[in-house]
Parts: sequence; structure tokens; C-alpha cells
Amino acid sequence: MLSMNINDLGWDKHFSEHFESLGRSDFLPARVLLETARVYSVFCSSGELSAKISGKLVHKASGREDFPVVGDWVAIKPNSTEQKATIHRILPRRSAFIRKEAGKRTEPQVVAANIDTVFMVCGLDGDFNPNRIERYLAVAWESGAKPVVVLNKTDICADVDDAVATVESLVPGIPVLPMSAIKNIGVDTLCAHIRFGETVAFLGSSGVGKSSLVNALLGMERQRVRTVRGDDSRGRHTTVHGQLFVLPEGGVLIDTPGLRELQLWSDNEGLARAFDDIKELSSQCRFKNCRHDTEPGCAVRQALEDGTLTDRRWQSYMKLKNELSHLEGRRNTKSKLVEKKRKKDLSAHIKRVHKRPRT
Ligand code: GDP
Ligand code: ZN
Repeated sequence: MLSMNINDLGWDKHFSEHFESLGRSDFLPARVLLETARVYSVFCSSGELSAKISGKLVHKASGREDFPVVGDWVAIKPNSTEQKATIHRILPRRSAFIRKEAGKRTEPQVVAANIDTVFMVCGLDGDFNPNRIERYLAVAWESGAKPVVVLNKTDICADVDDAVATVESLVPGIPVLPMSAIKNIGVDTLCAHIRFGETVAFLGSSGVGKSSLVNALLGMERQRVRTVRGDDSRGRHTTVHGQLFVLPEGGVLIDTPGLRELQLWSDNEGLARAFDDIKELSSQCRFKNCRHDTEPGCAVRQALEDGTLTDRRWQSYMKLKNELSHLEGRRNTKSKLVEKKRKKDLSAHIKRVHKRPRT
């Protein structure tokens, strides 16, 4: 049984400063381990508690991103009687992974918060797909987390060096770590990228070996966050069934189903960072608003011709850009509808106020 404190879970200066600035001595800092139907499992200095959000927090929320998610640091007030608490604030997120909701609605959904490093896992088998790496990279940049590319299944790849070189040229400046989760080769280099108090997560398609890597990191057995209750005279231990794990070597791992299959919900900034070579080229075009089509003096078309920019990368960029503007359009339509409803609500409210009998 491990005894944890909030520093093990990544509590640091950044969050404690935000917490102090609330100026509330009745609040305690806590990290969200799990959410089920707006009932949260949180970890604080007195162990694991079940928590609900305060009515004020619900009232002030303007969208789903205003509700706590796994990884969030929150300010809670423990109930004096049971092992329960109320969440009063969400401390500003350092990073947030946002997912486009399934189906037609496009309200962004935060799936996890405060991840420092994200390992984008690809399998060096049939799955190996540079386009997908670019996609995930755009999502990672947008989240605010630092991306690291993991090329798993080196044991069944004929030319690992070639694959590493391909990815390195695709994502200059980002660490590329070849490894085999099954043979336990190279997993130690992964550990070297996780510092004490840092929060990490694995991203990537199904079947690339994320579970195998998680198990390798956790020493085969999933070690959930546990604590010894300080005030428990019966000496019972609390075991947390969360989606947040403290690694044996230090560091925190977030593993949620939502993160595992992240759809694209990116903005132009994430895209620009994932394709900064194209951004750089565009800035060299003769015309500022060059569409890289038939304009003279187009640096992008020049690069495509002389091969410094591959056709595949250009196509991948255009595809992502189109998806984004499509999403953008849907989002705008939606915010117009919200605005319309707000005006309607307001005029209904005004009518009610006017009808109210004078006292
Ligand atoms: P996940 O869906 O990303 O969590 O992937 P899993 O960890 O479940 O792995 C999917 C499949 O790939 C399983 O059959 C694993 O045994 C296999 N696998 C995982 N890592 C490796 C590896 O390093 N080498 C090989 N050859 N297979 C692996
Ligand atoms: Zn151009």
C-alpha cells in the first residue's frame, strides 16, 4: 500500500499560486481522478473523496468545458461528516485535450486536463501512417501538452532506422522513441521522459500497443492511486478506481477511454505548428493572400516542384485545413443559434419583469 500526497500527483507552484490567490482558507486543493455522471472522485491531503460540484459552479458554467474532468486541479470543501466534498472551483488548466463530439453536435468536449507530455504511439506494422502522426501532432500542440512520438513494435519492423528518419523529418525537433513494449526494449527511454510530478498520457489508434506500454510502465500491474486514511481509526485503506495512476518511478499517467480515440478538434494554431514548414513557405509567397494555386511567385508550388515539400504532406495539410474550416462553419452556425436563443430568453425575461405586479 502506497502513501501518497498531492505532490506525487503533480501539485506544483503553478497550481498552488492559483489556489492561494483564491484566498480561501476553507478550501482544499484536490485532483480529479474520475468522473461518472458529474460525480467525481478526487484526491486531496486527506485521501480520496467523492465530490459533487457546487450549485454556483453549475450555474456559472456556459458549456461543457466549464465542468471538471480527469486531471483537473480543483478547490474543494470537504463535508465534515462523510468522506464527501463539494467542488467550488476549477484551477486554470495548463493544458486540455478537447474532442469533437460524436454525431452532429460540435460542442467541444474536454476529455482530460493538465497533461504535460503526450506520447503519440504508432505501431511499426501495417498501421504505420505518417498522415495520422501529423493529425495527432496538431491535436497535441493545440492541447498545450508537449508531444513525443513513440514508434512501437520495433521487433517486427525490418528497417527501424528508416522509420525513425521518416518521422524525424516529418516532425523536426520532437523526440522520436523507437521501442518494443512486448520485448521491453526501449521502454526505459520512455521513463526518462517522465519527470516526478509530471503528467503524461498515451494517444494513438487502437492496436498500436498503448495498453502494453501502460502495463510496462506500471510494472505489469496497474497501480492505482492509493492512500492511507489519516483519520481512519479502523485503519481501512482507500483504493481509488480512477483513470489517473501514479507511476512507480514517479510521475502521473492519465488513461481515459476518451483520450484513446481522440477525434480531430483542432484550431488553426495547432495546424500551423504541426505544419510550420508550410507556414514558413507561405510567408515567402509573393502575394500575402496567395492561395498557392495559380498565383505567380508561389513558394509552396515551387517547393512542391523541386521536392522540398512532398505532395503527401501538402495533401495532408489541405485535408486537415478543409476539415477545420468545415468545423469552423458548423461552430459559427451553432454560436449564432445560441445567440438567438439568448436574445429570446432575454426578451421573455423582460416581458416577465414588466408583467410582474408592483408591490
Ligand atoms: P492498444 O489498443 O493501443 O492499447 O494496443 P494493445 O496494447 O492492446 O496491443 C495491441 C496488439 O499489439 C496486442 O496484440 C499486443 O500484444 C501487440 N503489441 C503491443 N506491443 C507490441 C510490440 O512491441 N511488438 C509486437 N510485435 N506486438 C505488440
Ligand atoms: Zn503561394
